Amino acid sequence: MEKSIIIDVYECNGCGSCVEICPEVFAMDEVEKACLIDSDVEITSKVEEAAAYCPKKCIHFE
Ligand code: SF4
Repeated sequence: MEKSIIIDVYECNGCGSCVEICPEVFAMDEVEKACLIDSDVEITSKVEEAAAYCPKKCIHFE
């Protein structure tokens, strides 16, 4: 089964790094937490990069 992207919004500090790296997948919501533009997205190398650079390590794949 395809993995999906999970953002732990309790850990997210709203830094916006994931949006900067991969704006086609990540966005900021109205409370300044990261969210997914579309829940059914492919895990590309950009998505992996965004997860790797997340300072809170709160982007997971499950
Ligand atoms: S990089 Fe991590 S901490 Fe920063 S906005 Fe994205 S999910 Fe939140």
